[in-house]
This record gives sequence, C-alpha cells and structure tokens, in this order.
Amino acid sequence: MSETTRPFYQLTLKEAIRIAQSKGPDEILKAVWERAQALNPRVNAFLRLDSGKPAGGTAVLQKPLCGVPVSIKDNICIQGVETTCASRILKGHVPPYDATVVEKLKANGATLFGQCNMDEFAFGSSSETSAYGVVRNPWDLERVPGGSSGGSAAAVAADMTLAALGSDTGGSIRQPASLCGVVGFKPTYGRVSRYGLIAFGSSFDQIGTLTKTVEDSAILLNVISGHDPRDSTSANQPVPDYTQALKRDVQGLRIGCPKEFFVEGLDPEVAQSVEEATRTLKKLGAQIKEVTLPHTPYSVAVYYIVAVAEASSNLGRFDGVEYGLRVPAKDLRDMYFETRDEGFGQEAKRRILLGTFVLSAGYYDAYYRKGQKVRTLVRDDFEKAFREVDLIMGPTSPTAAFKLGEKAEDPLAMYLSDIFTIPANLAGIPAVSVPCGFTRAGLPIGLQLMARPFDEALLLRAAHTFEQETEFFKKMPVL
Ligand code: GLN
Repeated sequence: MSETTRPFYQLTLKEAIRIAQSKGPDEILKAVWERAQALNPRVNAFLRLDSGKPAGGTAVLQKPLCGVPVSIKDNICIQGVETTCASRILKGHVPPYDATVVEKLKANGATLFGQCNMDEFAFGSSSETSAYGVVRNPWDLERVPGGSSGGSAAAVAADMTLAALGSDTGGSIRQPASLCGVVGFKPTYGRVSRYGLIAFGSSFDQIGTLTKTVEDSAILLNVISGHDPRDSTSANQPVPDYTQALKRDVQGLRIGCPKEFFVEGLDPEVAQSVEEATRTLKKLGAQIKEVTLPHTPYSVAVYYIVAVAEASSNLGRFDGVEYGLRVPAKDLRDMYFETRDEGFGQEAKRRILLGTFVLSAGYYDAYYRKGQKVRTLVRDDFEKAFREVDLIMGPTSPTAAFKLGEKAEDPLAMYLSDIFTIPANLAGIPAVSVPCGFTRAGLPIGLQLMARPFDEALLLRAAHTFEQETEFFKKMPVL
C-alpha cells in the first residue's frame, strides 16, 4: 500500500518525514498518539506518554526530522522530564539537562514522544525487571519483548511510535529488536555520545536505534552520531552520511560465519532461518566463509564479571542524597541502607553484590583482572577474523521470544540469551539485528551482522540489501 493510503502510524520514519515536509507533522503525531494510547494498557511499552508537541512551530518543517515522533528509552535524560531507568530508586528524578542525543534530536526537529519501559537500569533480557510492570511482545502478549530496550522495540513493532532510541551494553538493542521483528542498530563504542545516558557498564554502553527499516536507522544515526567533548570516550572520527551508504549491493563482500555461533542451544528454527539468510546473501553475490572466534565461548562469563563491576560502581551514587527516592530513617547510615534496600529491585541488587565481590581485595586479580585479559582475547579474535572478511554474520538471539516468567527465576538461563550479542560489546564493534524470518508459531527471528570499528556504513548497506530482498519487515503483528 502506498504511504498515503495506510494509517499514519504505519509509516516509516522516512515516509513520515516526506509527508510532514508538505503537510506538517500534526496528523502523524495525532495518529501515533491515539494508537499508542490505545495499545499501551496491553503492551506497557511506555512509562510516560504525552501527546508530543512539535517543538518550534513551523520552524520545525525546515529541520531534517520535520517534527515526526521519536521515542526515548527511560535511561536517557530529558531536561525537566522524569527519567527513572524503570527503577523505584529514581522515582521523581528530573534531570536538569538533556543528553547529547536528546539535544541533537531536538535540534534536528524530532518530536520527543514518550519514554520507553525497560529492564531496571538496563539489567536484563526480557523487560520483566522494570519496577513499573513487564512489557509484552506485540506478536504474542504472553511472551517477552526481549530486553533491556524492550519498551523501545515493542513500541516500534506495534506502530506505537515511528522509531526509538535504546542502549546496548550486552545486546539490549539487538536482542529485543530480534524478538520483536524490528531493526536494532548498535554503533561502534564511542560513535554516539553517552553524555546523559545513565551509566550501566561504562566501557560497553552505547546508544543506538530501533526502527522499522534499515533506512530509518541510517536517518537517525545521521542525527545522533559524532564527537562530543562532554563524553571523554566519544570518538573524534568523521561521520559519513549514512543514508548515502544504502546501495543495494553486497556483490563481492566477504561475510564470515563464526563456527562458534552455530552450536548446541541454538534453536533449530533460528538456525534454519539464519542458514537461509546465508543462502540469500550468497545468491546476492556475497562470499560466505567460515571463520573462527575461539574465545567467544567465554564472552558471557567475562561480561558478567566486567559489566557488573562497572555497574556496582556506577550505581553507588544512588543513595537517597542527590537523586530520586529517599526513605527517611533515624540517621544517615540507615537512610542509605533503607533507600537502597527499597529502591533497587532484585536483579539490581544481585549485580551490585556480584560487582562489589569481583572488585574486592583478594578477588580482583582472580576475577576482574582476568576478565579484562580475556576481553582482550575476544577483541583480538575479531581483529583477526576481520583480516579475512568484511562482515560477520550469525543469529542475534539463540531463541525467538520466550514466555513471560519462563526465565525470570533462572538468572543463568536469562544471561545466556545474550550469548551472540555480548561479543560485539566486548570488542566495541558495530552490530545490527535485522528480521530474517518467523518461527512456525509466527514469532520473529533476527539476523545479526557485525562490522569493523566505525564501519557502520558497510553494515547498513549489507543490512539494507538483505532487508529489501527479503521484505520480512512488511509483516506486522495483529493487535
Ligand atoms: N541482557 C544483558 C544484561 O542483562 C544486556 C543488557 C544491556 O545491553 N543493557 O546485562
């Protein structure tokens, strides 16, 4: 159907911008707002939702995003708007400044539309650890949307917004994108400023996009990428125009399939779809080669040492003094204890304890230092593989969406959902999840592609070529 005969909430970002250029964004905003409001009681993708007023009147029409709606994960600060990381401990926390990405979205004319539910402090793979209720998968409301950016992914999948930002520390953009059948893009570490992103694992965290198409990711990445002196880890590298990279062509590209990614535990239907994707890419002219990433089997273990160490340190600041919740007590010490006891959920407490343990005197060398060494080995594996190939492909998640509650009581099973996404975070490389099929039960499956540092343009080109050839993005959940 053409863009003018479909309901406006079904538009891609690209189509919406084109329409807003001539008619203004108001009708689009209204359609998306009504849809989001009607569905949120069932999906719970948004923690906060308002009708979204386009900033700046008609001046917005001169700007690249033309007033169209974009939603933000609730760990990205918006000046003057409550931002909680879906935690009780940040209830009532109103940041006094905008994150750099928010500043850039506003400057480019986006209408900030709603704040997306998530796992508390981005700890999780199912969006069940939110203090404000679970997010449900639009393809099957009894299943999880993935996590931690589950609200962002579900909102995009259900047409409750046109596009969203998320954050990815160990897979939190790509895994929910895979489980909800949307495109999830994690840029190179340092490509997008983390200023104003509430920190989880500072050496992994990266902001990225959840969109209906690869082209929409390119449009948003153009806006949010680039050096920021306020984030000391942000990279001072030129940013190409990503929309120019979207040639439909993978002819001659060398794509590696790591043998470590096609192992036991990988759901047969997922394996089948990814193998089919391999054949599609081959048919389109890519050369598919087996590669090896011998240290990636240690990735989950390393991540749950290094990332929890960073998390425990980052969460030290939430003590009832400066931010959000304060539980009154007889003295300062008890106030700290009681605020943290009441404010943090179970998974956050587990990570603070684990992180404090691996950093403690006597255990530091055995866990944290060793973890850092193995992280270097994983990074070296990628470097070696990228001498032979231009991209690496594999599944995004070992399974399609699982049932609500299925893994909630088993942290290890939950942690294993990130077995294929964590390696890219350890290495700091860019990676994308793009829809590559459906299970017999009708649940989406995602293909993951990874590239060399700062080679986002190539990644977008390959993902776009695959997407336009296969057209899985055209299928939508019925709600
Ligand atoms: N699911 C992983 C975790 O629980 C990754 C989370 C993330 O990327 N923020 O840590």
